[in-house]
Amino acid sequence: MGELGAFLKIHRVGFDKRDPERRVGDYDQYFSLQPEPELRHQGARCMDCGVPFCHEGCPLGNLIPDWNDLIYRGKWREAIDVLHATNNFPEFTGLICPAPCESACVLNINDDPVTIEQIELAIVERAYAEGWITPNPPVRRTGRTVAVIGSGPAGLAVAAELNQSGHSVTVYERDEGPGGLLRFGVPDAKLEKWIIDRRVSILEQEGIEFVYDAEVGAGVSAQELQERFDAIVVAIGSRVPRGLDVPNHDLAGIHPAMDYLYQRNRWVAANQGRPARGTPAGGEITAEGKKVIVIGGGDTGMDCISNSHRERAATVVMLDVYAKLPEGEDPRSPWPLPPKRTPTTYALDEGGKRRWGTEVTGFGGKDGHVSHVYARQVTGTSSRDLTPVPGSEFVLEADLVLVAIGFVGPDQAGVIAPLGLELDRRGNVRTEQTYRTSVGRVYACGDARIGQSLVVTAIAEGRKCARIVNADLGGSPMDADRERLAVGAWSGEADQTLRHEAEAAGSVRPGDQFFTGPATRGT
Ligand code: FAD
Repeated sequence: MGELGAFLKIHRVGFDKRDPERRVGDYDQYFSLQPEPELRHQGARCMDCGVPFCHEGCPLGNLIPDWNDLIYRGKWREAIDVLHATNNFPEFTGLICPAPCESACVLNINDDPVTIEQIELAIVERAYAEGWITPNPPVRRTGRTVAVIGSGPAGLAVAAELNQSGHSVTVYERDEGPGGLLRFGVPDAKLEKWIIDRRVSILEQEGIEFVYDAEVGAGVSAQELQERFDAIVVAIGSRVPRGLDVPNHDLAGIHPAMDYLYQRNRWVAANQGRPARGTPAGGEITAEGKKVIVIGGGDTGMDCISNSHRERAATVVMLDVYAKLPEGEDPRSPWPLPPKRTPTTYALDEGGKRRWGTEVTGFGGKDGHVSHVYARQVTGTSSRDLTPVPGSEFVLEADLVLVAIGFVGPDQAGVIAPLGLELDRRGNVRTEQTYRTSVGRVYACGDARIGQSLVVTAIAEGRKCARIVNADLGGSPMDADRERLAVGAWSGEADQTLRHEAEAAGSVRPGDQFFTGPATRGT
């Protein structure tokens, strides 16, 4: 694998990042790939470690050492086939995955890990540029029909896989375009939206039908889908925001972070001439010229900060309940575990301040609008065991407060309640024998099943769910090669196979968020 001993002489060179001061002047992607010779060099660093922990670190089980080696040898055509064997959308994960594979890279024990994510992105972008990624419709149709509710990464992955097995798939999406949080949560600076459209256009040409502005439970009912389709997959995400139950939390100017992010993503789309729903009169949330306080130190909060900078906010302060990170390795997440926080992020590189170990205790207002945030310092190892530091109370001025403290679970009104789906203890859709809900012929995957997680986990969920649905539909097995490569494909074992998945479903507590973003380690 790679060049023998190359890791001893070649140093990691990560994504090329644009100057933070300049990039806040636009909404374009803030990082780019290194040139090909450098990428091949980087592939050579993969050190034939014998037991590639990166496989285990990746919820998709990506065959990382194989494609690192292919890149080192200049075999890009072969590399995309190996990459696509386990990942339907490497351009999404190549851009915004926090790369748990890199945390698990054996080199990461005492050196910088291989720049796996960058190599992944390079492979798929090269494949698009060369015209190697073309529609590949199934050769036969089974006559079976599947409705997928939600077009986030889980919905797209399950649709892609079931379509490849010959089933006729219709995706219902309540928003005006596909992608779920990829489109309306993640800013363009991290993932430009034409990238989603490019992939979805291929899926359409392969035969998947997409119906937008189609909220199941409003326009079309869940029961109607039950009657019309042989199977339903619920991939509606986990979007009900966690509220902040402190005095005056209902003042004007205090908003759930997602309300702001939806608006900003739509604003960028409209500005670029893409179709986007407008904001109802009087409902605009803007950070321009304001003192912005972001509550919550995860991904969502970071994306609020990056948008606030681009809107030219007067000041931006993030209040993070977690304690300041220790110097060097965080003993709470030793190798090969991914970090839950990083010392800095793309958004904080652009400006703003993060205050660690801070708990918000209330808000003050003037004429019904927020004007102050009351807070105090706390100690503790998680958001569930916080101890206030006596005398540490402080007050910050605020014109806009964005609450990004996580999500409590999937929306129950349109799909879950009408279908009578049981929930688990955490409020997510309960599945048994993996991916099968409590109601026959109805399946669930992605955040709706496991709670807020990662794009890579959502894709893995969609892929595995598709195998269960396919089996239940009596579909002939998905073609043998693909099946062999499937990770934890069948019920039972699937829930235990992936440590990361278990972590997302178990030890990550409500309100916790992973920090994600490219190249969190090294340069
Ligand atoms: P979602 O992406 O939430 O998609 C669910 C879809 O279902 C949506 O399109 C929704 O409109 C649709 N839907 C819901 N109800 C209905 C209905 N009744 N009828 C029709 N359609 C419906 N992860 C990373 O790996 N990297 C990141 O950088 C990252 N950044 C993030 C930033 C933010 C702000 C947030 C909130 C999350 C981020 N995540 C990130 C997490 C990641 O985006 C999610 O884990 C992932 O998108 C989940 O995929 P999903 O398909 O399960 O759900």
